[in-house]
Amino acid sequence: MNQTGEQRERWRRLSDAVKARLDYRSFYARFCRLPERSGARTRTHCPIPNHAHSGGGKPSLSIDLQSGLFHCFSRDEGGDAISFYALLHNLTAGQALARLARELGVETKNVETESDGAGVDARTKGERESLVTRAAPDTTDALLAEDEPAEPLEERRLSLICESFLDACRREEQLEGIAYLRRRGIDRETMRRAGVVYFPRQSYRRVMRELQRQFTNQELMRSGLFNSQGHLTFYRHRLLFPFYKEGRVVYLQARTTASGVEPRWHNMRGSVPALYNIDALGELPSDTIVYLVEGFTDTLTLLANGYAAVGLVGAGGLKEDWLPPLARFRVVAALDPDAAGASATDAYTEIFARRGMRLARLSLASDVNDFFRQHAADSSARFASLTELALAKLPHRDERE
Ligand SMILES: [Zn+2]
Repeated sequence: MNQTGEQRERWRRLSDAVKARLDYRSFYARFCRLPERSGARTRTHCPIPNHAHSGGGKPSLSIDLQSGLFHCFSRDEGGDAISFYALLHNLTAGQALARLARELGVETKNVETESDGAGVDARTKGERESLVTRAAPDTTDALLAEDEPAEPLEERRLSLICESFLDACRREEQLEGIAYLRRRGIDRETMRRAGVVYFPRQSYRRVMRELQRQFTNQELMRSGLFNSQGHLTFYRHRLLFPFYKEGRVVYLQARTTASGVEPRWHNMRGSVPALYNIDALGELPSDTIVYLVEGFTDTLTLLANGYAAVGLVGAGGLKEDWLPPLARFRVVAALDPDAAGASATDAYTEIFARRGMRLARLSLASDVNDFFRQHAADSSARFASLTELALAKLPHRDERE
């Protein structure tokens, strides 16, 4: 595992261990007045400072004391106990986790044994939901509900298969993938940080056997990476882009690096579960500028140039329930300068506004990657001033509550 993988793994273990030790009722009671006799779900006034509630209105904070999830209806923001702690103390998710771990006496070296054992399955259920908060009022009940729809393969298991697949490929020769991305101005370090992996043709059997060694055929088929004949089918498209959520791979897309292969993309089954690169935002301070772009290449181009960005799969791919994690940033749309990009940006501007958020619109003459390649020498300066212009055009924030 590379350094990033190890960090993610450590994060996951630590967060598992912290949650295992938290008694959610006494945790939330430290910050909110909980009704004396309440069931698992309770409502109270929201103490999150950034929300700036007047304190007069109806209680807007819903807490599920069983799963530890919270949701503020008034500001459409929610998450798990760690994100609650972060919001209360204006910390990044990482700082909040570290502080809670210290407070609870969770040591990193004990984490491994603590995250194993009987309690794990029950906890992961809630935790799966905890980074991307499903905050639309009508989906909140679904978020807090006990029952989840049946899934082809348990999510954690699916993550493990994807991660093993990526690890197996990563041990193989990466040069072609590195060269492909370099031609697009994306350096090796950015590739590494984003967990992008190349799957060389000559490694097909070795990678397939490695997966068969670790998982049953049944599981591999249910993951969608293998066909019913028991063969790995994720191979014609050799550049693999993982989607991370809470440090776990939740989805894969693969792109061909050869010319003439159609379609150019191969997806895992199911719908795209998140914005690409959303996990990287957790560590950023509030009010950072985050670009909303189309595709991996544009996302990685911005990362390579030192910007924060999240990617859509296709211009129209944004889902409304992905918005809450973006609420604390200054979001700038830089979709492709075509009809699809323009109408998607119009639609997103409205969706953002409905949630009291603002979306700035960056107008480039080309897509982001071309922009940076065309203006190699002064691209960053130009990009920064265009961004400033876009932000200046934003309407003023409405007074809320
Ligand atoms: Zn609130």
